[in-house]
Amino acid sequence: MSQAPSVGRIVHYVSYGTPNGEYKSECRAAIITGVDDYQAGEGGGGLHVGHVSLAVLNPEGMFFNRAVLHDEGAETPGSPDCPDKGSHGNPFRYCVCGWIEGAHRGGTWHWPERA
Ligand SMILES: [Zn+2]
Ligand SMILES: [Zn+2]
Repeated sequence: MSQAPSVGRIVHYVSYGTPNGEYKSECRAAIITGVDDYQAGEGGGGLHVGHVSLAVLNPEGMFFNRAVLHDEGAETPGSPDCPDKGSHGNPFRYCVCGWIEGAHRGGTWHWPERA
């Protein structure tokens, strides 16, 4: 299921956290103000090529961003034969088999999570 972004849609923008944790990386509401040659990736999930311009609505104010990359923050699948598969996500955040926990990276946008 991949949707194409269009002007006026509301998405989430992920703010940057600070390295010492004073600010957490958080989802902000953002309105798409422009779409640049968007290409949905094959197979869904993971990083898609394409970027949009956004008007980001922060509680403190609004700012405008160009060329924001789409990242749904999906996990990176590891080896299907991993002996520690059951520990993926709990307690592991990454695994020698290549699996990496999903996370939204700062400075990217994604479709709002279903509540
Ligand atoms: Zn979000
Ligand atoms: Zn593994």
